[in-house]
Amino acid sequence: MTEQNHIVCASCGAINNVPKSRLGDNPVCGKCKKPLMNGQPLELNEAGFNRFVEKSHQPLLVDFWAPWCGPCKMMAPVFAQAAAQLEPDFRLIKVNTENEQNLAGRLRIQSIPTLAIYKNGQEIVRQPGAMGLGDLINWARSHA
Ligand SMILES: [Zn+2]
Repeated sequence: MTEQNHIVCASCGAINNVPKSRLGDNPVCGKCKKPLMNGQPLELNEAGFNRFVEKSHQPLLVDFWAPWCGPCKMMAPVFAQAAAQLEPDFRLIKVNTENEQNLAGRLRIQSIPTLAIYKNGQEIVRQPGAMGLGDLINWARSHA
């Protein structure tokens, strides 16, 4: 029996089962036929974030940011570059804490940017403050 590896579709929310060995083959969603990964961070609202955390078997690297935060703006291109390198081992997610204040409050995000990694429905580590590309990738891989 093949191991289940659930990937949530960013376009329609459908849960796809993609074997880990096939993740590098540019898999598309079985429902809406859109690519399941595009090497770019995915901006999510609270409902989307909850769905990914609960349903995705792919580890999630999340950037909690806000438009008024200078270090967050400097972090944005680094995070985008990291997405290109870390997918498909991770899915990179951005949460705008200005728009999602309820979620940020529930998660007790106290400073931004905050980076966090979620696996199997649980937050396993979080790190306040911006990171350079090399540090971010090493940090993520050490928690994969
Ligand atoms: Zn889809």
